[in-house]
Amino acid sequence: MKAGLFFKELTDLFFPRLCPICRQALNRGEEGICTTCLHRLPRTGYHRDPFSPMAQLFLGKVPIERCAAFFFFTSPGDARQLIHHIKYHGGKQCGSIIGEIYAHELLPSGFFDGIDALVPVPLHPSKLRHRGYNQCEWIAAGIERATGIEQCSDWLYHTRNTRSQTRKGIYDRWLDTHKAYETAPELDLSRRHILLIDDVVTTGATLLACAQALYTCGNPRISCLTLAAAQ
Ligand SMILES: [Zn+2]
Repeated sequence: MKAGLFFKELTDLFFPRLCPICRQALNRGEEGICTTCLHRLPRTGYHRDPFSPMAQLFLGKVPIERCAAFFFFTSPGDARQLIHHIKYHGGKQCGSIIGEIYAHELLPSGFFDGIDALVPVPLHPSKLRHRGYNQCEWIAAGIERATGIEQCSDWLYHTRNTRSQTRKGIYDRWLDTHKAYETAPELDLSRRHILLIDDVVTTGATLLACAQALYTCGNPRISCLTLAAAQ
């Protein structure tokens, strides 16, 4: 047995790696999530349906080529725990592994064909300082490993803090989200096909605002991928 593998098994014995959903120790060969929980995740299958509920969120607003979401964000439920782990409990490695697993599931469908850049939804700098990482960049890193498509995390910036949205009216919230994202100066995305990546899609407002910002840089083709989708 190689020393590294031996050390890994030894640390697993004393500090078992746990599945974020069922809290059981992960077996050898399991990464990020246990096999049982992975199979139980309720897949959306949205990538097969051009008129999926996710695709309909963007209809008539900004042209979105393809949409994909791995699983439904059930509440309360298993998938919710997984997203919370990735976002709030330091599960960045797990986010990367789930991104990679999903990309491998999607690859045979041709979903990634023609896509030449992965753009994770950026966090506001103050949120990034507080959390220490952007979960979308970690999800994108997993997709990059599976597909070989380059991650371009310096194309889009979050410039307006939207943390206190709960105290605002609908119009102010829309305005905040709408103007929250800016692109890098003199960015030319003509003839590019970008895949926007977020952890969860709910109303589609965040992805829409990001897509609109990118679209001003030479009308690129834009597709969207999230791990979870609210039902
Ligand atoms: Zn599990």
